[in-house]
Amino acid sequence: MSDCIFCKIIEGEIPSTTIYENESVKVFKDIKPVAPVHLIIVPKMHIDDTEDINDDNKAAVAECLNAVKVAAKLAGVEKSGYRVISNCGKDGGQTVNHLHFHLIGGVKMREGLI
Ligand code: AMP
Ligand code: ZN
Repeated sequence: MSDCIFCKIIEGEIPSTTIYENESVKVFKDIKPVAPVHLIIVPKMHIDDTEDINDDNKAAVAECLNAVKVAAKLAGVEKSGYRVISNCGKDGGQTVNHLHFHLIGGVKMREGLI
């Protein structure tokens, strides 16, 4: 999608610190990290958000979830643990309308969600 910042990162039009990618997924560092480890996992196919997941693109979403543990190991948090979040829509706090999963770790988080 031409005006999508994550599509531009995927295409290399906007720089990112990429830590892993394969043919369907890219993992890069969040530009405003909220924890010592804060990675963004995106499907290379543009999907708006979790509401936009369907039978035609669900394989790309599965690839993202499969990339979570690869990214966690590369970041060195596979044993200490981490949190995975996907914000959806206005009340979910989504600011970039390309489906993505935040992988956050490197610090002991409070139990519960918020
Ligand atoms: P969300 O608010 O869930 O939509 O998450 C979007 C995330 O993308 C935020 O944590 C931003 O800091 C991050 N972000 C925005 N622009 C960039 C960029 N150019 N490179 C890396 N991360 C970005
Ligand atoms: Zn996009």
